Amino acid sequence: MKRLSIRARLTLWYTGILAATLILLGSASYGLLMRGLWQDVDATLEGVAKALNQGARGPATDVLPSDLEEILRHLFGPNLADKYYQFLDPRGHPDTRWPQFRGEPLGVSPEALRNAARGSATFETVQGRGRYPVRLLTAPVMFSGQVVNVLQVGMSLEGLYMARRQFLWTLATLFPLALVLAATGGWLLARRALRPVDQMTATARRIEAEHLAQRIQGAEADDELGRLARTLNEMLARLEAAFAQVRRFSADASHELKTPLTVLKGEIEVALRSPRGPGEYQRVLGSVLEEVESMARLVDDLLLLSRADAGALRLEAAAVELDRLVEDVAKEGEILAREQQVRVTIQALEPLIVHGDGQRLKQLLRNLVDNGVKYTPPGGHVTLALHTATGFSAGAGSGPQHGSTAASQHAVITVRDTGIGIPPEALPRIFDRFYRVDPSRSRESRSAGLGLCIAKTIAEAHGGRILVQSTPGAGSAFTVSLPLSA
Ligand code: ADP
Repeated sequence: MKRLSIRARLTLWYTGILAATLILLGSASYGLLMRGLWQDVDATLEGVAKALNQGARGPATDVLPSDLEEILRHLFGPNLADKYYQFLDPRGHPDTRWPQFRGEPLGVSPEALRNAARGSATFETVQGRGRYPVRLLTAPVMFSGQVVNVLQVGMSLEGLYMARRQFLWTLATLFPLALVLAATGGWLLARRALRPVDQMTATARRIEAEHLAQRIQGAEADDELGRLARTLNEMLARLEAAFAQVRRFSADASHELKTPLTVLKGEIEVALRSPRGPGEYQRVLGSVLEEVESMARLVDDLLLLSRADAGALRLEAAAVELDRLVEDVAKEGEILAREQQVRVTIQALEPLIVHGDGQRLKQLLRNLVDNGVKYTPPGGHVTLALHTATGFSAGAGSGPQHGSTAASQHAVITVRDTGIGIPPEALPRIFDRFYRVDPSRSRESRSAGLGLCIAKTIAEAHGGRILVQSTPGAGSAFTVSLPLSA
């Protein structure tokens, strides 16, 4: 079933509640009105009966018809057309001593007669000869403890019925009118209140991946819709940033891959231009292989980063002896550094075990040591150190750490160099993708600016983090902290 629009539902609710209220109110007023009208009629009848009764206490001839007429006029009001009275004897026959009843003859029910004989009055509603029923009071006329007569006073209920009809007519006209008014008003109000939502929908529909810079209007309002607009705008800003990052990433990645491909193409073309000896081919192939290897490394790095982005970076979870790992990487670094006349040494080494992916951790450390060697001039020095530290909080999470002090024990690896250092303004950006402080220098060393970014990704995937301190011209120190296994 199709769901009604919020606007229609609001209007329906609104109208429904009003209808229920009106019905309740109408019924209550109807009840009260009818009770009042009946009580009025009965009170009038009782008043007349009382007056006649008093007149009838003496001998019948004491009261003249004209006097009675006068009394009745006084009590009933000027219009006597629909008021009746008659005197009966105790058995219910018309008493001829009294003036004839006015209007139609009134019947007397046996029950009312019985009640009168017992000395009590009876109210009844009977069908008269006219269109409207008649309210009838049958009361005894007592004389020294004896029932001497039975008095009947009647009154047409025309007035009451008319009043009732009028009341119901008024209700019947006002009720639908009020409902129509409420429904229209409710509809208009709901439309007005929801108009910003329609506008938001229209804007949101216009916004596509290419136009994420657009924003939804109405965010300045301090109400529910303003909050919604602000929330959507914040989401758009995040999407925009994410899209921009992805776009930059693929542009940078293509650019990085294009350079070695151009080199490759050039070398191959030159080699093919004329026949060469085997030595020459070997040299070209060697250079091509180097280029291919560097591209393969780059592709590996890109793959790792995009997996990490997608939350799909799979890490082995094994016990890794960090001290062994540091020794291995230092040894590799030494070989690399020898050409550059840079020394790589281990300063401190504690036997520590962390839980994680040994290959990835090695890659992390290798990136740091490679950088240290790369950015340190001949005669410089790169040192590695591994020790434990307490309270060096890990990762981006700042939540409370569970357990004892052991839980906040970290393995800290420091890679320090006496190299060129990093300018302070570049420090916040060196972990960004493809960022290089000095692109021209890095180009010759074939670095894409992904090394530190990868190091950071690996550290964070292990629940750790990486920090840097650097003084331009004096050297840099990278500190990796990893949570120790219990
Ligand atoms: P690259 O592949 O260019 O080395 P990285 O992500 O590893 O990229 O480093 C980013 C930039 O940070 C480098 O281009 C370099 O300018 C700077 N950098 C990194 N490590 C060091 C260091 N030990 N000393 C000086 N500069 C460094």
